[in-house]
Amino acid sequence: MSEAIFIGVDVGGTSLRAARFIGHNPTPDAKIKVATQPAGDARQMLDRLEHVIREVTPPNLAGVEGIGLGIPGPVNPYTGVVIKITNIPGWENLPLRQILEERLARPVFIGNDANLAALGEWKFGAGRGHADVLYLTVSTGIGGGVVAGNRLLLGAHGLAAEVGPILIQPNGPRCGCGQRGCLEALASGPAIARDAAERLSRGEGADSALRALTNGDFSKLTTALIGHAAQQGDAFARSLFREAGEHLGYGLASLLHLYNPSIVILGGGVSFIGELFFESVRATVRRYAMHERYWRDVPIVPAALGDDAGLVGAGALAMEESRALVVPDR
Ligand SMILES: [Zn+2]
Repeated sequence: MSEAIFIGVDVGGTSLRAARFIGHNPTPDAKIKVATQPAGDARQMLDRLEHVIREVTPPNLAGVEGIGLGIPGPVNPYTGVVIKITNIPGWENLPLRQILEERLARPVFIGNDANLAALGEWKFGAGRGHADVLYLTVSTGIGGGVVAGNRLLLGAHGLAAEVGPILIQPNGPRCGCGQRGCLEALASGPAIARDAAERLSRGEGADSALRALTNGDFSKLTTALIGHAAQQGDAFARSLFREAGEHLGYGLASLLHLYNPSIVILGGGVSFIGELFFESVRATVRRYAMHERYWRDVPIVPAALGDDAGLVGAGALAMEESRALVVPDR
């Protein structure tokens, strides 16, 4: 008997990626990436989605046991309904699982992309061998996922582990969610760039290389540019990441109290900055945890799956859920 085939799909804001996995193997044997092009109506996007899935599957989906999809927004993983994706027109209360199962005649599973990245890191990445994993992704936004007792924590409506809106600083900077001082408004990539622009405008960082690198136009500041300056030793740029790490550390201390993981994994563009950021996060956690049991022997490490986390996570969802279909969980 040939090995089961699983399909993982990462529906990103800018690119749509699909991969084929043979058995429980994290290395895809076929991959495709196309622009998401979120124009048009809900149907056009569904057609494009079906197309990328068929591109990586054998004719008639022979041997495919499950298809997992990571969605960049709130979903109900129990019903397979996408609640809302701001960037994709018409994807609101969309019964995605039902639609794709009708089109493809195979089991379809959906999950929030950060949740699935957590699942991928637990099954194949930095969290292998850990039953209790906390994963945070720090990039344009801040997302998270929790694996507790070797199960992805979903919550009553599948909305658990939404870490971005954790309140860090009342009356802090305005957040995309409408509140102020959320973790996402203080430690995400755009938050760091905005903070840099405000401070440079006020005259801080007088000798920072960022002034020359942007020709004084601080709207050009990006996390990548600030990260580059930080790695070159720019004191002002370094202080920005140290502070963002501190803010993340405040949130993380609370999350350690709540979930008591045995490992914390940080992914996303901001964490690629490296040790400067991680050291600040670790030091803050040590300062604010109520007991050292929460952080001693709990490594805080970079994600291992990098760019592929979403794709591998979606594949892992298909593998895990397909198994659950065959062997009832007891
Ligand atoms: Zn917020």
